[in-house]
Amino acid sequence: MTKFVPDLGDETLQALVEALTESGQAVSLYDAEDRLRYANKTYQGMFLGGYEGPYTFTEILRNAAKHGLGVRIDDHDVEAFIARTLPRRRSVPRKAFETDLVDGRWFWMDHTILPNGWVLSVGTDITALKHNEKTLRMAHEEALVAARTDQLTGLPNRRHIFELLDEALTSKGTVSSLCVVIIDIDGFKAINDTYGHDAGDAVLAHFARVCRERVRGQDHLGRMGGEEFLLILPEVRLADAVLIVERIRKGLPPTRLGAGGLELPYTFSAGVTEALPRDDRVSILQRADHALYAAKADGRNCTKTSFEGETPVTSAHVF
Ligand code: GH3
Ligand code: MG
Ligand code: MG
Repeated sequence: MTKFVPDLGDETLQALVEALTESGQAVSLYDAEDRLRYANKTYQGMFLGGYEGPYTFTEILRNAAKHGLGVRIDDHDVEAFIARTLPRRRSVPRKAFETDLVDGRWFWMDHTILPNGWVLSVGTDITALKHNEKTLRMAHEEALVAARTDQLTGLPNRRHIFELLDEALTSKGTVSSLCVVIIDIDGFKAINDTYGHDAGDAVLAHFARVCRERVRGQDHLGRMGGEEFLLILPEVRLADAVLIVERIRKGLPPTRLGAGGLELPYTFSAGVTEALPRDDRVSILQRADHALYAAKADGRNCTKTSFEGETPVTSAHVF
């Protein structure tokens, strides 16, 4: 391999400086006392504007902050920013980091400490990359939300409400109690058959909204599928869980089909159970389902509870 020996004659040096000056990269050179010795046009646009000195690093930062130039400082406290930055400025021979400017641009900055203590800084505009990154991140977040949300009701879907149940069960040690309720709309097939599938959809969306409004922020309501919902009530004992369900039932308004349209009353049945120390998702849902089955068998529009090894007992029956 032949070693490249640069021709540093006047012409080459001149061309090099011109190239740097015109470059879209932001190039600056500070001496060991942190006085600016060279800044190309891009760097000047970023930090200097029409500034006429003194050209020390700190004064340049102060002036930039005063005139809405340079790096974006979150709390607008330029002195604190300088105090944070200065001790780190020559702490390592080479470092690279990204920084965002007051004008919204992002730069990837590459700092090199030269043997004589001078600092060469080369910045590359990465604004387009950052925008792509942000768009991708937002799309990713939207996809995550969509993947765990039931489209019709806006509630957590089956997979997500089961995850929330798993979480609630694993944090059982830190909560004093936990109740789980399976709620099923009564005679839903007949609603579909009589009023149409869209009316059925309207009932589901309506129930989700009313139920959500009638529980606390820390409770979780999700759609398990079809006309079946799962309600997770942390820090609630069985008797109170029944009261909460009855509060949802009491005065459950009819679903209004279209503006000023038909009012469609409906009811639901509920099975309630309280978590036991060794419960997992399957065991607790089995008990709640048992209780729901009993509520259906007892004529619907009521709430039943279920304990381990017990047949469900009636807690509330509303007609
Ligand atoms: P029960 O009182 O015993 O609960 O009877 P039901 O009619 O409510 O229950 P069944 O399981 O017989 O019928 C549920 C129906 O729900 C059948 C299914 O077509 C309908 N369904 C499931 N998902 C949806 C949906 O997203 N929208 C609508 N409109 N209907 C749905
Ligand atoms: Mg049903
Ligand atoms: Mg059902």
